[in-house]
Amino acid sequence: MSTQPLLTLKDISKKFQIKGSKNSIRAVDGVSLSINPGETLGIVGESGSGKSTLGRLALRLIEPTTGEIEFDGKKISALGSTELRHARREMQMIFQDPFASLDPRMNVESIIREPLDIHNIGTKSERSELVRKTITQVGMTEDALTRFPHEFSGGQRQRISIARAIITRPKLIVADEPVSALDASIQSQILNLLLELRRELNLTYVFISHDLSVIEHIADKVAVMYLGKIVEFASVEEIFSNPQHPYTKALISAVPQINPEHRTDRVVLTGDIPSPSSQPSGCHFHPRCPIAQQQCTDVEPVLRNINSVTHQVSCHLATGGDLR
Ligand code: ADP
Ligand code: MG
Repeated sequence: MSTQPLLTLKDISKKFQIKGSKNSIRAVDGVSLSINPGETLGIVGESGSGKSTLGRLALRLIEPTTGEIEFDGKKISALGSTELRHARREMQMIFQDPFASLDPRMNVESIIREPLDIHNIGTKSERSELVRKTITQVGMTEDALTRFPHEFSGGQRQRISIARAIITRPKLIVADEPVSALDASIQSQILNLLLELRRELNLTYVFISHDLSVIEHIADKVAVMYLGKIVEFASVEEIFSNPQHPYTKALISAVPQINPEHRTDRVVLTGDIPSPSSQPSGCHFHPRCPIAQQQCTDVEPVLRNINSVTHQVSCHLATGGDLR
């Protein structure tokens, strides 16, 4: 018997219209994936690859142009606004910049309590009780509750947004670059807190980061995105020990602190990520790819299984072994 995925995206796309132009941007372009309960799916890719858009689509904070989303057996993409509001209780989001996502005029108690107010959970005293319990769960003390966001460091503010995200006991949390604005030492504290909470509260994470060393620390499975598409998908072990896409290899080469045993051939990316409004022909990565051949310019590769059904890559030249 296989477990039912908690979240399934089926061929999801999102186009943004460019103002004053007939062109549109395909920010997310035909993404399919599923996440089992208790797993952490890491989404990695350079800035502009569509990670944040994908995260917001997964929670239906923005509407997909095409495709379907299933969450916990329910078709999220078909829910009306009332049902969607109910479902939201079980799906929360954490953002990169807790300064921007925490209302500076609200004290910490009101910030953490607000989701309970919105979803009408518990009595007034039960809400206060839960707020006090939750602030300690994220490693802070109750005296923080009467203070305001600006009185805290970046790491503490991120703990406050985590408290706010877990207080409704969600099943899924989408964390969009939650540690990218923090110092390295603080980053690992927050990552460890997220890992601890995952265990304690049976959480499932979609964890978005441009930083592969962060992904290596927290993810079970990894989706590598390039120009709105998943170009490689595998377990975290496979991604680091046997990366197949030249883009994945380039991302790994760029991170000095990654385990040297995990490093295969060094691939250095040249050029910038092209604009998603004018995508290259064939393989969208070919203009920057160090091993591109004629077919890569002519034919767009599709995501295909390699080595195992859980390792997928979208590259004509991937063989399953080392490409050197
Ligand atoms: P990432 O999080 O990987 O940096 P995003 O999902 O933020 O990528 O953006 C993907 C692409 O979509 C970018 O080219 C970005 O400029 C564009 N984009 C994102 N949001 C909007 C929007 N609301 N309107 C127009 N374009 C957008
Ligand atoms: Mg982003």
